[in-house]
Amino acid sequence: MGQKHDLRCSKCGYEIDALLGIGMLYSVENIFKSEKPLLPELVGDNKITQQALALVNNNAEISENYGHSLYACPEDFYLFDKFYFQVGDFKPQYHCPYCQNILQRVTFAKGTAGKTRLKFMDQDKYWQCPRCGNDEMIEYSFGNWD
Ligand SMILES: [Zn+2]
Ligand SMILES: [Zn+2]
Repeated sequence: MGQKHDLRCSKCGYEIDALLGIGMLYSVENIFKSEKPLLPELVGDNKITQQALALVNNNAEISENYGHSLYACPEDFYLFDKFYFQVGDFKPQYHCPYCQNILQRVTFAKGTAGKTRLKFMDQDKYWQCPRCGNDEMIEYSFGNWD
């Protein structure tokens, strides 16, 4: 089951409704190996999908660590939820629609009471609001989806 996150900047209200994790139908089989794999729909990018499925056909190893993940642009900090996966050494690279930089995954980190910060996974760097520069968010609603 996945989680639904409604994150809002605690100062200016910039927000993202993000679906994270995996749904019930998200087996390796359904996503990568069935006759009509779910991957194209999850990824929304033909080049990435074709490259990944070609690797799967060549028996590249599919990592079990996949799902909808929170990504941020390292330059302007806009947030997106995108599908993360790894096949062999291949991981999808998503581009920021505003500045073309490659989006980076971010993870939840502790903020002050009742607030959340987002940290870039591969760097010692925290997310900042693209509109006002604040670095804390409030989670307004939280639920599950399947
Ligand atoms: Zn803000
Ligand atoms: Zn950007």
